[in-house]
Amino acid sequence: MKVLTYHNIDYPPKEAKLKSLYVNPDKFRNQIKYLKKFKNTVLSNEIDKSKNAVLLTFDDGYRDFIKNAYPTLKKYQAKALIFVVAGLTDKYNLWDWKKLNVKKPLMDWEEIKFLVSEGFEIGSHTITHPFLTKIPEKTAKAEIEDSKKILEDKLGVEIKTFCYPYGDYNQKVKEMVIDAGYKMAFTTKHGTFEESKDMFEIKRVTVFGHWILPQFLWKVLL
Ligand SMILES: [Zn+2]
Repeated sequence: MKVLTYHNIDYPPKEAKLKSLYVNPDKFRNQIKYLKKFKNTVLSNEIDKSKNAVLLTFDDGYRDFIKNAYPTLKKYQAKALIFVVAGLTDKYNLWDWKKLNVKKPLMDWEEIKFLVSEGFEIGSHTITHPFLTKIPEKTAKAEIEDSKKILEDKLGVEIKTFCYPYGDYNQKVKEMVIDAGYKMAFTTKHGTFEESKDMFEIKRVTVFGHWILPQFLWKVLL
């Protein structure tokens, strides 16, 4: 199984840096269409070890998901796992807007609740998106534990998955994630699910906006 990582599904604003993290909505539609119609890929929101299964993950919970990704996923009856920054709903990417030179709006609770009601899975991406190995242990523990509680209180569902901001973790951080009661955690390391060390170091494939369709299919299906 491959786990794909998306960030923004949108056209990047002119001034934005790291434009490759934006996949334009037409490209995204074609990617999903190909996977579903021609490759018969299973697009569920959980781990499925069959060879043609793909798990779509979306980091940070950007509002463009609702406008540009949701309609396509709905059309092709695909589900996804979305990692939300629990303390920044309805705000923007406070953690990297200066570096990226763009303020990207994040979904509010109503939008996230709607996605839950539509069968999407929500995971935790901490409260404020810090580098977890670079802050005091106590703070890291709160980011990991309290984000789960906030999301569960607001959404009324169990939050089973966690995603390390910036892919930053070490053994201690990983143990905190396990102790908090999560069932699995996702990294930014490249690889297939089967190549992952364990359920708390799941490897993924980041989808870049400059990929053309054959490139996408090659990276995702091989
Ligand atoms: Zn992130």
